Parts: sequence; C-alpha cells; structure tokens
Amino acid sequence: MVDDLIHKKPDQAAQANMPDYSKETEVFSWAKARGLLGGLADGKLNIAHECVDRHVANGAGAKVALRIIRKNDDITEVTYDALFNLTNRFANVLQSLGLAKGERVFSLLGRTPQLYVVALGTLKAGLVFSPLFSAFGPEPLQARMEIGGARVLVTTNALYRRKVAPIRDRLPELQHVLLIDAEDDGDALLDFDALLQLASTEYNIEATEPEDVALLHFTSGTTGRPKGAVHVHEAIVAHCYTGRVALDLKPDDVYWCTADPGWVTGTSYGIIAPLAIGVTMVIDEAEFDIARWYRILESERVSVWYTAPTAIRMLMAAGAEAAKNCNLSQLRFMASVGEPLNPEAVLWSAATFGKPFHDNWWQTETGGIMIANYASMDVKPGSMGRPLPGIVAGIVERENGKLHHIDKAMCVGELALKTPWPSMMRAYLDEEERYNKCFSDGWYLTGDLAMRDSDGYFWFIGRSDDVIKSSGHLIGPFEVESALIEHEAVAEAAVIGLPDETAGEVVKAYVALNPGFRPDKDLQRSLRGHARQRLGPAVAPREILFREKLPKTRSGKIMRRLLKAREMGLPEGDISTLETDEK
Ligand code: AMP
Repeated sequence: MVDDLIHKKPDQAAQANMPDYSKETEVFSWAKARGLLGGLADGKLNIAHECVDRHVANGAGAKVALRIIRKNDDITEVTYDALFNLTNRFANVLQSLGLAKGERVFSLLGRTPQLYVVALGTLKAGLVFSPLFSAFGPEPLQARMEIGGARVLVTTNALYRRKVAPIRDRLPELQHVLLIDAEDDGDALLDFDALLQLASTEYNIEATEPEDVALLHFTSGTTGRPKGAVHVHEAIVAHCYTGRVALDLKPDDVYWCTADPGWVTGTSYGIIAPLAIGVTMVIDEAEFDIARWYRILESERVSVWYTAPTAIRMLMAAGAEAAKNCNLSQLRFMASVGEPLNPEAVLWSAATFGKPFHDNWWQTETGGIMIANYASMDVKPGSMGRPLPGIVAGIVERENGKLHHIDKAMCVGELALKTPWPSMMRAYLDEEERYNKCFSDGWYLTGDLAMRDSDGYFWFIGRSDDVIKSSGHLIGPFEVESALIEHEAVAEAAVIGLPDETAGEVVKAYVALNPGFRPDKDLQRSLRGHARQRLGPAVAPREILFREKLPKTRSGKIMRRLLKAREMGLPEGDISTLETDEK
C-alpha cells in the first residue's frame, strides 16, 4: 500500500508541472526557464517586479498574495494590489532616507506582514535585502550586520531593546532603525508605519541588471566568521523554475512554507518563488505547534506544503491519529528540506497523509533547490532525489588541488555541482579567498558527502566539515566557541554536533578552564546562561562539559572530530597529528 504511494502512477505524473523528468532534462535550458518570467525593458530584471508588479499589470491584483494567521488567530490578508502599493511606499521611504543603490537593508522580524513589504520594497528600490534570524542573540546579529555593512534595520520594539540596543554603538554604519511597532518615546528610532503612511504609492521600479546584487544571506563555515553569500536578481530564474518543477507550484495553489524568514528558505521559497508563480501563500506568524499546524492545513485548504525534517519528526512522534482526524483532501504535494529526511518519515507520511514527503537538497550558496524528488518521479525514501534539469551533479574527491570524479555507484565522495546556474552565489562578501576555495575545475564543491545510485538518485551521508545542523539551523562551531571563550572562566572551547532523534543534531561544548576556576555545577550554569544570552537559544550549546585539556594537533588546532568520535564511541581515525601527550 505505502509502496503504491511512493511509486507514481502515470496519471499522477501527467498532472505534474514536469510530467517526464528525463524528457525535461534533455530539452531544458536556462534561457527557456527565463521565459517563465516577464522581465523589464532592455533585458533588465527585478525580483520585485516578477513577484508583484507583473501580476498587477496582468490583472491579477485582486488575488490574495499573503494570508497571514496572526499569533492571536486573527487573519491579515494582503492582495497583490495591496502588496504593490505597500512595496512602492517602502521603496519611497528608503529613497527618502538617501540610500544609494546596492546598500543593505536588514530585517530582524518574524513572519509579520511587514517582512514581505520590507523584502520586496528593498528589491524594488535596487537595494540589497538581508534577513536575520530572530532567535539569534546580540553577538551573531552584530557579526552579520557588521560584515554586511547594514545601513537600515527593520525590527520590532522588543527585539530591538533586547538584542540590538546593547550592540548599537558597535555598528557605526547602521544609520536607520525602523520599528514596526514604534512607541513614541523620543528615541532616535523611526516609526515604520508612520513613514509608510506618509510615502507615495507611486514608484518607478529600479531597472536593475540581472547581475545586480539583490540578496545577502549569511551562512557558517568550520572556521572564521559567518560568510555573506551574495545573490543577484537573476537568481529568480532558478527560484521560479524550481518552484514549478521541484515544489510543483501552480498559480491556483494555496502554499504554506514553514521556514523561518531568517534563513535562506524563508526568502527563496517563503517569498520569491511562490509570489513569482502567483500563488496565495498561507503564513503562520506563530511557532511550531502540532494541533495548530493540522488546523491550518485543514482550514486553509493548503495544497502545497514545504517544511523541514525536525517538524516532520515531531508530527510523527505525536502519532498519526491527529493527522487522520483532519480533512486534508486539498493537500496535493509535500516537500521537505534542510536536513536528512529519514526513510521512516517518508514512509510514515505516505501512510498517514496518503502521499509522501518529497525530500530536496540545496544550500544558502546554491540559492535554490538543486536535487529533488519530483512530483512525477518515484520517491526513494531516504534519498534527496535527482539533480534539477539544468544541473549536473557529481561525486568527487579532491586530490592535490585536482578533482577526481567518482563514477561508480554508491561510492561516497563530496557532492559537487557543475557551474554556473542563475541562483549560484556570486561571492562571499569581501572574502574572495574563501569563495575561491569552493570551486575547482568548473565545479562548485558543496562540503557535503553523498553518493549516487545507479538510477541517478543522490543519498546524503554527512558534512565533510565540522558545521552543525540543529533543527534545520546551520551553526558554525567557531562562532559558539568564540562566545564561550569570552567567559572569564574559559581558556579553550570546542564545539561539536551530536546526533539527536528529533533535531538531527544538538550542539555540545567542551571547555578547559583558566586557573582558579572550579569545574562545578554553578559554573556550568553560569556558562550555559552566558552562551544563551550571547548567542540565543537556537545556537547555544545544550550541554557544556569540562575537560582538563582539549585534544589538539601539534600545530595547536583543536580536533573536534576526535572529541566527537570519542563521545560517540567511534574509531578515532588518523590521530598522527595529535599532540603526543594526548594520545
Ligand atoms: P543552509 O545553507 O543553511 O541551507 O544549509 C545547507 C546544508 O543543509 C547542506 O549543505 C546540507 O548539509 C544540509 N541539507 C540541506 N538539505 C538537505 C537534505 N535534503 N538532506 C540532507 N542534508 C541537507
């Protein structure tokens, strides 16, 4: 029975936007994908035009673009017409603030109506939109705004007071802070609503070049500060195409993307792709809640649902009964991203919803979905699917600066993608060397380990670096270690991710103390509090353990891998570079 659900029947395939993967792959070109968009005169392209203005010009302005379920269950509806006016107003506000083309506007917001106005109004004005994760503490926020040279920040009163006010004097480039719920308390803060009210609804959209910078998304590596992945307006060609073929979105869909707006999925598939296709988006302002989610799926008649493995596993743990009591007859396509989706979750969803979750894979750097299980193709539970038409994926090994391609099926290597494609990052902001290291021989190296089977499906194995994925959030161990070291008691810190049944991985830290500090429960509590306050609860370690010394290479680098292997009882691997007294 479940078998039937993961094998697609010919009539199911025929209804998909991409009925035949092999045929589509043969005839595909990015030029053709570009034809799905309108474009501006003289070859110019602006994401906001494709997401909003084009639909209004085509007479679809009265359609609901956003249906936002507020925390108190009130509903705010925004039509494409209203979004057109609001984004014009916000573009005028930005212009009146004297910003120059290419300057960066940051948002630190939940899924509020203003988020969409800020993102699209910024793009309309030819400025760069950069979303921040609202569960970050002051330190990660400061690092990102500093690196990104934030000129404008739009946020809420509470988030500002708690997280930005303490670091504001360290951000000299941040000229304007706009609050969406400003109180008239004489601060040098601007009132978002008041400014919007005063601004005109007339605006001549900036005729941006396809290669003009549009988006700045932060991501983390094993070492060093966060990296700002730069994306251009041309990226929308991939957003729109993948929305059609990997999420099977059609204009009549009611679409729900549960991603947080602070991460790349929240922009590429929480704003751009669905609006470019012209769907109605359902947006839940509240956080994850099982009963609430089932209620939304049923009452909003959601037809396409894009969510993440951690949430799916939590639904699974709550049991199938809750799902079976809902009328989900409208639900047509379900997709998942961000972490490995275990085969049990795929089989459970097929049995529970009558259709499986379709896993897909991509990264901040790739800007859009690169590998997917498609609506017309059999799902292999546990596999990320097959490369997008137009994308060539390979399994490689790096050998003395050269790439060696592994063609044999089911052999593990690094997942690599042949460049270029429209939503590929164009740079890591001001970090040319780190950017260049991602490429070899015309291939982009993803940092993920994977294998390909003989049917061309890709299987995720793990990261090739020490980056941690916890509840779908990418966490750089260096950022966590740096915050821990700032505590007066800590001499050294090492941070690893440990497997967790629900969250995928959880963050665990080991610290060595400075002389004079006792490794007791009080200090442990103080360290946990320090980390939560600086980093925010989504990033801070769940557990902090004391060690007299941390294992290091002879050149002084902490061996996180060894800590992890020891913690998990796995073979220690090559420890020839370990300091001798550590072995
Ligand atoms: P981010 O840049 O934050 O979107 O994180 C990208 C990383 O998340 C990838 O490099 C993978 O390590 C992981 N990831 C994303 N999608 C999947 C997936 N479908 N299966 C396994 N890992 C995934």
